[in-house]
Amino acid sequence: MRDIVIIGAGPAGLSAGIYGKRAGLDTVIIDESGIGGGQVLTTYDVDNYPGLPGISGMELGTKMHEHAIAAGVEFMEARVQGIEDGGNVKYVKTSSETVEAKTVIIATGAVHNHLGIPGEEELGGMGVSYCATCDGAFFRKRVTAVIGGGDVALEDAIFLARGCSKVYLIHRRDEFRGAKKLADIVKSTENIEILYDTVPDSIVGSDAVEGLNVHNVKTNETKTLTLDGVFIAVGTHPVTEYLKGVLDMDERGYIKADESCATSVPGIFAAGDVRTKQLRQIVTAASDGANAVTSAESYINNL
Ligand code: NAP
Repeated sequence: MRDIVIIGAGPAGLSAGIYGKRAGLDTVIIDESGIGGGQVLTTYDVDNYPGLPGISGMELGTKMHEHAIAAGVEFMEARVQGIEDGGNVKYVKTSSETVEAKTVIIATGAVHNHLGIPGEEELGGMGVSYCATCDGAFFRKRVTAVIGGGDVALEDAIFLARGCSKVYLIHRRDEFRGAKKLADIVKSTENIEILYDTVPDSIVGSDAVEGLNVHNVKTNETKTLTLDGVFIAVGTHPVTEYLKGVLDMDERGYIKADESCATSVPGIFAAGDVRTKQLRQIVTAASDGANAVTSAESYINNL
């Protein structure tokens, strides 16, 4: 039986792996991609991870993966289909086998919702982004659009307006879902133009984003906005489908856990973007990995 089975090889999972091995625990990471790094790999430039200014997401994710390998963490490439709690033993079921463990750390992250419009996937990383704080700096003095009307979209628009020459905020209704305080700032920011009742139809460009086709849902008027970047902020969803009924989750599917990473089931921990938390960033995910192992170690010591 393993001491710790970690599910997911993003920053939370890799950090947990490194801490697990350093604690002398038998630690394995199960990840379906076979490539360590997680979402970070798709971020063009990280620039907010302390000590590594300007590092690309690909390089940081790869370095974390290499660090875990060097620490002696074992990797298993498989898709986890479910976990069964058997008290002192947890059964982690993959497509090919069932792995037994004293503790499990869930680090499967969250994924941004996509719009599913033409150009979105093709221009991903070439002007289409799901993270303004990660990629906004590349659009200084340029024109961008933010899609969405929640807190994230409002915050993104405010953040981008500090550096961009102009920001279109495109929302499908005539009223924001996000906080009034943020909406008031957006409305009073000179270089933010709000397009209410408007939905994006397609993103255009060959090697980089060049424009966005939109239409007004009330008037049916269509237009093409000439711009350099499109930031999509239409919510996220955690990767927790396979855990339904096993752990307590909030109404959006995030696993309920605090900084100790302890979940509603003793011996099962949740680290990184997959858990309820204030800020989902690489640095907070890596921090969770360390906390989860500390909690797992103390759980094992009391078995
Ligand atoms: P959200 O609150 O779910 O908002 C998503 C927005 O995207 C909504 O305005 C929604 O429009 C729009 N949308 C969804 N699907 C769309 C589509 N296919 N096409 C066009 N628009 C679409 O998500 P979020 O902004 O990511 O925030 C997530 C959670 O984090 C929220 O609970 C939020 O309060 C919280 N949060 C809080 C803070 C803070 O307190 N400072 C900061 C960030 C996030 P509709 O409004 O029409 O549904």
